[in-house]
Amino acid sequence: MSHGCQALVVACMDFRLWPKLFQLLATIGLPAGSFDLVSVAGSGKSFLGPFQWNLFRWFKQIIISGFMLLQVGISVKLHGITKVVILFHDDCGAYAIANQAEERQAQLEDLRKIVALIKTKFPALKGVETYTIEGTARGNLTIKPVR
Ligand SMILES: [Zn+2]
Repeated sequence: MSHGCQALVVACMDFRLWPKLFQLLATIGLPAGSFDLVSVAGSGKSFLGPFQWNLFRWFKQIIISGFMLLQVGISVKLHGITKVVILFHDDCGAYAIANQAEERQAQLEDLRKIVALIKTKFPALKGVETYTIEGTARGNLTIKPVR
Protein backbone atom coordinates (compact mmCIF):
# COMPACT_ATOMS: atom_id res chain seq x y z
CA MET A 1 0.00 0.00 0.00
CA SER A 2 1.43 3.32 -1.01
CA HIS A 3 -0.20 5.38 1.69
CA GLY A 4 -1.38 3.61 4.78
CA CYS A 5 -2.11 4.49 8.36
CA GLN A 6 -2.77 2.46 11.48
CA ALA A 7 -6.23 3.45 12.66
CA LEU A 8 -9.55 5.11 12.07
CA VAL A 9 -10.49 7.39 14.97
CA VAL A 10 -14.17 8.16 15.54
CA ALA A 11 -14.68 11.27 17.70
CA CYS A 12 -17.55 13.55 18.63
CA MET A 13 -17.86 16.80 16.72
CA ASP A 14 -17.99 18.76 20.02
CA PHE A 15 -15.81 21.88 19.64
CA ARG A 16 -14.62 21.60 23.24
CA LEU A 17 -12.54 18.53 22.35
CA TRP A 18 -10.57 20.06 19.53
CA PRO A 19 -8.07 22.29 21.34
CA LYS A 20 -6.49 19.16 22.87
CA LEU A 21 -7.74 16.26 20.78
CA PHE A 22 -4.59 15.61 18.78
CA GLN A 23 -2.43 15.95 21.89
CA LEU A 24 -4.60 13.38 23.69
CA LEU A 25 -4.47 10.99 20.74
CA ALA A 26 -0.68 11.23 20.70
CA THR A 27 -0.59 10.04 24.32
CA ILE A 28 -2.37 6.81 23.31
CA GLY A 29 0.07 6.09 20.51
CA LEU A 30 -1.72 7.91 17.71
CA PRO A 31 0.37 10.89 16.64
CA ALA A 32 -1.19 13.21 14.05
CA GLY A 33 -0.66 11.71 10.64
CA SER A 34 -1.09 8.12 11.80
CA PHE A 35 -4.88 7.86 11.62
CA ASP A 36 -7.97 8.66 9.62
CA LEU A 37 -10.61 10.67 11.46
CA VAL A 38 -14.40 10.69 11.40
CA SER A 39 -16.04 13.36 13.54
CA VAL A 40 -19.80 13.27 14.04
CA ALA A 41 -22.19 14.23 16.81
CA GLY A 42 -22.04 11.59 19.54
CA SER A 43 -19.05 9.79 18.00
CA GLY A 44 -19.74 6.06 17.72
CA LYS A 45 -23.36 6.54 18.78
CA SER A 46 -24.10 7.04 15.09
CA PHE A 47 -23.27 3.37 14.42
CA LEU A 48 -26.36 2.49 16.42
CA GLY A 49 -29.95 3.43 16.10
CA PRO A 50 -32.69 4.22 18.32
CA PHE A 51 -34.22 1.79 15.75
CA GLN A 52 -37.63 2.79 17.02
CA TRP A 53 -40.82 1.64 15.41
CA ASN A 54 -41.16 4.85 13.49
CA LEU A 55 -40.50 4.37 9.82
CA PHE A 56 -38.87 7.75 9.24
CA ARG A 57 -36.53 7.45 12.23
CA TRP A 58 -35.73 3.84 11.41
CA PHE A 59 -34.89 4.69 7.80
CA LYS A 60 -32.82 7.70 8.84
CA GLN A 61 -30.84 5.62 11.31
CA ILE A 62 -30.20 2.84 8.79
CA ILE A 63 -28.65 5.46 6.50
CA ILE A 64 -26.54 7.01 9.27
CA SER A 65 -25.33 3.64 10.54
CA GLY A 66 -24.53 2.62 6.98
CA PHE A 67 -22.60 5.86 6.50
CA MET A 68 -20.48 5.12 9.58
CA LEU A 69 -19.75 1.55 8.48
CA LEU A 70 -18.90 2.86 5.02
CA GLN A 71 -16.26 5.16 6.56
CA VAL A 72 -14.67 2.16 8.27
CA GLY A 73 -14.73 0.22 5.01
CA ILE A 74 -13.13 3.07 3.07
CA SER A 75 -10.43 3.47 5.72
CA VAL A 76 -9.71 -0.27 5.58
CA LYS A 77 -9.62 -0.33 1.80
CA LEU A 78 -7.72 2.87 1.11
CA HIS A 79 -5.38 3.09 4.07
CA GLY A 80 -5.12 -0.46 5.34
CA ILE A 81 -6.04 0.39 8.92
CA THR A 82 -5.78 -2.42 11.45
CA LYS A 83 -7.89 -0.91 14.20
CA VAL A 84 -10.78 1.42 14.92
CA VAL A 85 -10.59 3.76 17.91
CA ILE A 86 -13.89 4.99 19.34
CA LEU A 87 -13.69 8.08 21.56
CA PHE A 88 -16.59 9.04 23.76
CA HIS A 89 -16.56 12.01 26.11
CA ASP A 90 -18.41 13.28 29.15
CA ASP A 91 -21.03 16.02 28.97
CA CYS A 92 -21.87 14.88 25.42
CA GLY A 93 -24.86 16.68 23.93
CA ALA A 94 -25.73 13.66 21.80
CA TYR A 95 -26.50 11.76 25.01
CA ALA A 96 -28.00 14.73 26.84
CA ILE A 97 -27.85 12.96 30.21
CA ALA A 98 -27.07 15.37 33.03
CA ASN A 99 -26.04 12.69 35.54
CA GLN A 100 -22.46 11.73 34.73
CA ALA A 101 -22.73 8.17 36.04
CA GLU A 102 -25.88 7.55 33.98
CA GLU A 103 -24.27 9.05 30.89
CA ARG A 104 -21.23 6.84 31.35
CA GLN A 105 -23.42 3.76 31.76
CA ALA A 106 -25.36 4.59 28.57
CA GLN A 107 -22.09 5.08 26.70
CA LEU A 108 -20.65 1.81 28.03
CA GLU A 109 -23.71 -0.08 26.82
CA ASP A 110 -23.45 1.56 23.41
CA LEU A 111 -19.71 0.88 23.21
CA ARG A 112 -20.27 -2.86 23.69
CA LYS A 113 -22.75 -2.87 20.81
CA ILE A 114 -20.53 -0.71 18.60
CA VAL A 115 -17.47 -2.91 19.16
CA ALA A 116 -19.52 -6.05 18.42
CA LEU A 117 -20.96 -4.47 15.26
CA ILE A 118 -17.60 -3.37 13.88
CA LYS A 119 -15.96 -6.72 14.68
CA THR A 120 -18.81 -8.52 12.93
CA LYS A 121 -18.65 -6.34 9.83
CA PHE A 122 -14.84 -6.18 9.70
CA PRO A 123 -13.49 -9.44 11.14
CA ALA A 124 -10.03 -8.87 9.66
CA LEU A 125 -9.41 -5.83 11.88
CA LYS A 126 -6.99 -6.49 14.74
CA GLY A 127 -9.10 -4.58 17.19
CA VAL A 128 -11.55 -1.94 18.22
CA GLU A 129 -10.25 0.25 21.04
CA THR A 130 -12.47 2.42 23.19
CA TYR A 131 -11.59 5.52 25.17
CA THR A 132 -13.41 8.21 27.06
CA ILE A 133 -12.36 11.83 27.31
CA GLU A 134 -13.23 13.41 30.64
CA GLY A 135 -13.26 17.02 31.78
CA THR A 136 -15.15 18.37 28.75
CA ALA A 137 -17.20 20.90 30.71
CA ARG A 138 -14.19 22.14 32.69
CA GLY A 139 -11.81 22.26 29.75
CA ASN A 140 -9.11 20.13 31.37
CA LEU A 141 -9.34 17.08 29.15
CA THR A 142 -7.93 13.67 30.00
CA ILE A 143 -8.22 10.43 28.05
CA LYS A 144 -8.76 7.00 29.58
CA PRO A 145 -9.25 3.56 28.08
CA VAL A 146 -12.70 2.02 28.53
CA ARG A 147 -12.57 -1.66 29.41
ZN1 LIG B 1 -20.34 14.83 22.16
